[in-house]
Amino acid sequence: MDKERKLIIAGNWKMNKTVAESLDLANGLVRELKDVTEVDIAICPPFTALSEVSKVVIDSNIRLGAQNMSENDYGAHTGEIAAGMLKEFSAKYVILGHSERRQYQRESDELVAAKAKAAHETGLKPIVCVGEQLEDRESGRTEEIVGSQVRGSVAGLTADQMEGTVVAYEPVWAIGTGKTATSAQAQEVHAFIRNLLGDIFDEDTAVRVRIQYGGSVKPDNARELMGQADVDGALVGGASLEVRKFSEIILNSI
Ligand code: PEP
Repeated sequence: MDKERKLIIAGNWKMNKTVAESLDLANGLVRELKDVTEVDIAICPPFTALSEVSKVVIDSNIRLGAQNMSENDYGAHTGEIAAGMLKEFSAKYVILGHSERRQYQRESDELVAAKAKAAHETGLKPIVCVGEQLEDRESGRTEEIVGSQVRGSVAGLTADQMEGTVVAYEPVWAIGTGKTATSAQAQEVHAFIRNLLGDIFDEDTAVRVRIQYGGSVKPDNARELMGQADVDGALVGGASLEVRKFSEIILNSI
């Protein structure tokens, strides 16, 4: 598949997998995906497994990501983890503003923007998640909601930082539900996000930003979704927990 932007496919393991299970999954993926050069691959295990998994992937084509981080560098923030701590495990990416964190931890666009800035300042690439709820889509407010999340969540980034940021469009109604956005629905919102980034930053920056789709991506729908002009990869939840499914998503996308 020929694209001007290299696809990036990331697995969000969420709060799943013990250290031993994480090692099994990571070892299996290293084995299955060792010949893939066409796609940037990342896995985002829970914090507790980052140390061990980093040793498995360090010499492979799979990069490591975290699922969240603090906007602060260090100090009295009980239970938080700083970007610099993630760098100790050679993490390259960090997922920010996932809809589950927006919903259950009440994360705001402003907080996501502060985290994204802190990530860049420490040398981590943020994967900034945005997406509308079902009622937003049904009432025709998708662009309004997604547009406001994008504006708020990348506020304060420089154009260079924006270029190194991955945006993940994840319609909330499609996450973990088995309901995938059609490729046309995904493309429409991705094109809208890219246009908006052109307005906020500039055209050159906007064409370089990679925009992932997330929401029930599976081996059998990956190819069609990745074939859309403005879909530059996937953020995968459930299907990233199995070697076969995650590998097939990647292999089917090439
Ligand atoms: C996600 O949570 O980022 C996600 C896309 O989940 P799933 O693939 O399970 O829908």
